[in-house]
Amino acid sequence: MIYRDYGKTGKKVSLLGFGGMRFQHIDDHDECARMMVRAAEGGVNYFDTAPDYFGVKSETVFGKGFAELRRRRLPYFAATKTFKTKAADIRREIEAQLKRLDIGAIDFYHVWCITSLDNWASRKRDGILDTFRKLKEEGLIKHICVSSHLIGDEIETLLMEGVFEGVLFGYSAYNFKTREKAFNAVRAKRLGAVVMNPLGGGIIPQHPELFAWTQRPGENPVEAGLRFLWDHGDISVTLVGFRSGEDIECALKAMEGYKPRTEAELEDAKSRSTSSFEGICTGCAYCDECPQEIPIPQYMDAYNQKLLKKEGDAAMKERLGMHWTIPASGAGKCVACGLCEGACTQHIPIIERLEYIARAG
Ligand code: SF4
Ligand code: SF4
Repeated sequence: MIYRDYGKTGKKVSLLGFGGMRFQHIDDHDECARMMVRAAEGGVNYFDTAPDYFGVKSETVFGKGFAELRRRRLPYFAATKTFKTKAADIRREIEAQLKRLDIGAIDFYHVWCITSLDNWASRKRDGILDTFRKLKEEGLIKHICVSSHLIGDEIETLLMEGVFEGVLFGYSAYNFKTREKAFNAVRAKRLGAVVMNPLGGGIIPQHPELFAWTQRPGENPVEAGLRFLWDHGDISVTLVGFRSGEDIECALKAMEGYKPRTEAELEDAKSRSTSSFEGICTGCAYCDECPQEIPIPQYMDAYNQKLLKKEGDAAMKERLGMHWTIPASGAGKCVACGLCEGACTQHIPIIERLEYIARAG
């Protein structure tokens, strides 16, 4: 395992981190705790969850896992988040989180999911920073962090305020071009940088031909996608949402056989990436509250196929019919209320795409 500095906090974190958002059998607490133990035995010491992954179940199984890690004297850092903004709500939330996680303090506590700079301004007006600072003074949290789905220049602006000690954001071989600017602030403010969605929400293994530039001889797309991130010297942790023990073994194997590229080799690989991947839906589902009950992420995933594959419309229709089994005509139920576009983390023109899909069907 490789360990890197988490910004200027003095903490050394594992380059491979454990994300608690994808457990295959979340109700099997013993299995989930065993997965955490196996990862920790492999050297993973960064464990990230949230109060809304499988409801509160992910935090609950993390509590069981942490108790087991303590019993076995395996070191760990606990990271979680809050979407609350008002002092009393945050206080209630963190008390419940500490109980669920079965720990006395949270190492990395995140202001969760900043969706726009306006959204951040509004949370500041609610006094969120004062509340976080007070929690830190009281020793309930160790470091004040932020998680965001903003694009690179917006994240850079957010971080340059200098109020955070670390950041969690999506970064991978598919979106690195639009996220790279965030690292200007990471370097300038000496922040911890944790990246999520390392395989682009499945886009990378689903489209290996588009990411051949990441692959070196003998590497599969998953290994190549992870190692591409590990080559980035400003990344502290690459968070993988493990579904099963098998996923953990794959990631540990990728780490075991990892040979860093030189900077020149990395630049050469990046220069062979010809697609910008701009406008690709990441499947984050923040838009998924349509009053017309349109399954937006599924339709946008199908539209991804049109953007990514040379078969275009045919690939999009096949994805709708064969994978999602939803009719193209269903996209026509959109009444253009704009709710989803306001929530979309990637600023995708959802209404226009739904119109296109309905017409193409
Ligand atoms: S704009 Fe259309 S798809 Fe989006 S929330 Fe409104 S009705 Fe649903
Ligand atoms: S359309 Fe936007 S908000 Fe919805 S899943 Fe895709 S990227 Fe996320």
